[in-house]
Parts: sequence; structure tokens; C-alpha cells
Amino acid sequence: MARIVMKFGGTSMAGMERIRNVAARVKHVVSQGNEVAVVVSAMAGETDRLVGFCKEASPLYDAAEYDVVVASGEQVTSGLLAMTLKAMGVEARSWLGWQLPIRTVEAHAKARVSTIETDDLLAAMASGQVAVIPGFQGMMDDGRVSTLGRGGSDTSAVAVAAAIKADRCDIYTDVDGVYTTDPRIVARARKLDLVTYEEMLELASVGAKVLQTRSVGLAMKEGVRVQVLSSFDDPTQEDLPGTLIVSEEEIEDSKMERQLITGIAHDKNEAKIIVTRVPDKPGAVASIFGPLADAAINVDMIIQNDSKDSEETDVTFTVPRADLARSVDILEALKETIGFRRIITDAEVAKISVVGVGMRSHAGVAATMFKTLADRGINIEAISTSEIKVSVLIDEDETELAVRVLHTAYGLDAPAA
Ligand code: ADP
Ligand code: ASP
Ligand code: MG
Repeated sequence: MARIVMKFGGTSMAGMERIRNVAARVKHVVSQGNEVAVVVSAMAGETDRLVGFCKEASPLYDAAEYDVVVASGEQVTSGLLAMTLKAMGVEARSWLGWQLPIRTVEAHAKARVSTIETDDLLAAMASGQVAVIPGFQGMMDDGRVSTLGRGGSDTSAVAVAAAIKADRCDIYTDVDGVYTTDPRIVARARKLDLVTYEEMLELASVGAKVLQTRSVGLAMKEGVRVQVLSSFDDPTQEDLPGTLIVSEEEIEDSKMERQLITGIAHDKNEAKIIVTRVPDKPGAVASIFGPLADAAINVDMIIQNDSKDSEETDVTFTVPRADLARSVDILEALKETIGFRRIITDAEVAKISVVGVGMRSHAGVAATMFKTLADRGINIEAISTSEIKVSVLIDEDETELAVRVLHTAYGLDAPAA
């Protein structure tokens, strides 16, 4: 017997037929003698619909009320799944975020899980009842409903798995694992049997939305065994061929032959800002980035152009697209203090990243990336790197082409069928 958390995403919960399929899978896992907690997302498209209502109600909506609205999608699916399970003869009940409770801290709309009370949950599970928990939602210290940021049900599932010391956290989604790149963009993407926590964390943070970044960080910290699986396979199939997230040692032990690059991701959620003719003197860059940090705006890629012949320099950087207007407002208000000439913005950009732990021991990964893009006439507007990642900023229109040619260049394409 094992204790298992099963998480089902939006597409898997979209409509009663799919919910019945999910229930059949849960029933199968229960019938094998396992204790099961299920974490569910809202039906696909529902959270977007609810966010739309909030924006319509007020452009400057209150984040606490936003949480009240958007958390409702998961309340619906958790109730429906519990009912469906019961109708199939499986004992089940829903446990809403505030009922357990799943306690959260920090800001509404992007809250972080602090603790989860598990006594009642474990007692119910031990009595043979399936616990159905709405993902994405929690409760602040003042008792108000909170949500964990978009894609947050993955994090709910990992947090529940850590709290109940589950043997496994199975993330069921609409693809059958983690691929070398988004299989909806590159038909010849290959499924990875194993991926390290570190690579998955990096891939998620640069746009591979198959898992929410925070869920991977939490799984790594808490040592939760995470598996990504398809919810569309036969619900009674054993050993579904998914992707297991493992430590680097486990990969080495598996003797799997590793590619230099593990995966490629793209992200269209950033925007570029160029602040021109900033005085080239100590403190100038701090006067730009300090106020943005104070406004909790995350700056990602940064380049400062060399200005050997002049006393001025151009500073280029990226911010989340959603924060572009606010960033410009903040900087324009400080024009005199910073002393720049003007601000140029471009929201039609995409960040393409290649990720792999092999980079630590091999040179030339970045050079291959630049040459491959240059050969296709794709211009690079900014670059950033980490120990296991190289990212470039390009024109949004060239996203798919860039991902495809890089996938081929790094030898990731699956053999032609
Ligand atoms: P869910 O609703 O189940 O949480 P998501 O839409 O959040 O599902 O995540 C699954 C999607 O992630 C897939 O449909 C796929 O298009 C996308 N994706 C992006 N990068 C990858 C990747 N490297 N491997 C697999 N899927 C990826
Ligand atoms: N329903 C939420 C969203 O769409 C959370 C999730 O599905 O993970 O962002
Ligand atoms: Mg998701």
C-alpha cells in the first residue's frame, strides 16, 4: 500500500465525461489498496473566464476579492469529482482550502503555502475515504480565501504530498510527460523518461508551463517524488509511461545517456524596455532598478551598452508584460532624477532558453545557439545565462522557428516516424 497524491489539470477536468474518466483512474488506484488524495484544477478556460469578470468589474480590482472569485472554479470541480466517485461506489469527500485548512502567507493572488493541517485529512484517508482537494486555493491568517498564482494547482498537489508524506505525487495532464520542448510547437519533441529537479525548475521558470515553477522548487526542497502522466490514457493501465523528476545522482545511476541540452522553452510573457542615454556614472543603474524593485517588479534580462566614447549609456532590460505600463510610469516619473533621454518599449518579444546540466562541463552551447539563430536571420536582442541555461530575447514572430531550429541543432529531434 502506498499513499499517493493524484493531481488533475484543467483539460482533464473539463466536463463531466472527463471527470468520469478521472474518477475511473482514481478508483483504479484505490482498488490497488492505496490511500489517495486528489488535487483538482478548475475546468479548462474557467479561471481565465473568472479573471475576465474581475477585470470587467474594476481595472484596479482588489486582490483579496479577486481570490474569492477565481478560487471558485476549483470548488466546483472538487465537488463534482467527489460526487462522481461516490456514484461509482468509492468513498470520497471534498476538503476546501479553508476547511483543512491550507494556510498561506504573503500576497493575495500569488500566495505561498505555509502549513497544511493534516490530522483530519489523514484520519479520513486511513478510513478508506478519498480526499478531494481543490488546487490553487488556500486561506490567509485572517481567514480570507487566497490563491497561489496561475498554474498553482501543481503547487497545491506537491504541498499536500509533502504534508502527508506521500510516497508519490502524480501530476496528470494533457500530455504524457515532460518533453524536450513543448510538443504542441515541435512535433518531433521527445519525451524524457527522467529529468532532474534542477533542470525542471529551470525549464519551468523559463516558460515550460507543464509544471508551475514553485511546485518544482517545493518538490526539490521537500524531496517529493513527482511524476508527470497523461490523464487521457486507459484509466486501468498499469505503469503509465510518464516522466519522473529525480535527483542528479539517480540519473547518473540510471546510466542513461545524456544529451548536452535537456530541453528548450519559450516565454512570451516578457516585454523589453530600453532607457536611452543614461549618465554613465556610479549609481545610475541603481536609480533605475531600485524603484522597480520597490514596486515588486521583477527585472529579468539586463544589458548595458558600452559607452567608451561618451558619458552616456543605453540600458536594456525585460520585465513581465503585465508590468510594462507600470514600469514605464515609474521611470517616467523619475526622469529628472535618473537623467535619461527617453524610454523605448517592445512587448512583441519572446525569450528562448536552452537548459541542461551538461552545460557545466561543456563549452560551446551558447555559441551553437547564436550561430543557429544567425543562420536563420534571427536577431538576438538580449542574452542572459545561468550555470545550466542560456536565454536569448528575439522577435515574438520568430518564436516557433527559433525553437524548432534549436531543437534540431542540439540533436533533440525524435527519429522521423
Ligand atoms: P494542466 O491544465 O494539466 O495543468 P498545463 O496546460 O498547465 O496543463 O500544462 C500542460 C501543457 O504544457 C501541455 O499541453 C504543453 O503544451 C505545455 N508544455 C510546455 N512545455 C512543455 C514540455 N517541455 N513538455 C510537456 N509539455 C509542455
Ligand atoms: N485554475 C488555475 C489556473 O488556471 C490553477 C491551475 O489550474 O493550476 O491558473
Ligand atoms: Mg498547469
